[in-house]
Amino acid sequence: MSEDYSPEFLEEMRQELESQRADLINRSRIARSDLREREATPGDSIDESTDEQGTSTEMHLKDRERNLLAQINDAVRRIDNGTYGYCEECEEPIGKGRLRARPMTTLCIEDKEEKEQAQRRHHAKHPGMFSPTNPTNKKM
Ligand SMILES: [Zn+2]
Repeated sequence: MSEDYSPEFLEEMRQELESQRADLINRSRIARSDLREREATPGDSIDESTDEQGTSTEMHLKDRERNLLAQINDAVRRIDNGTYGYCEECEEPIGKGRLRARPMTTLCIEDKEEKEQAQRRHHAKHPGMFSPTNPTNKKM
């Protein structure tokens, strides 16, 4: 199966990624002000360590945002260098449908599922560690 991505499709994905990036930045601002409002609301069921909870929630948010932002930037870079849309494991085209649903994806559905299972097994043994698989040699 060979599926080529037209410049129009890549442009569509680039715009999608950029709008997601803008969205993410917007949302993180809203989340932060929302957090402050909730902290200021008296009579919340969490009486103890409200501060601690708020801080950890915010840190978690920032972590996730940073992660997502890195994925978005990475995807845009792949569009620029022409590797976008191909599975980084098997180098097969990921498919337009899947890319539209998840523009940042770097794996085809089979490898994604395989990797998730491997990670789950790995995490059970070594939580917090990530073992990279053998890098494939790509001709640029
Ligand atoms: Zn694959």
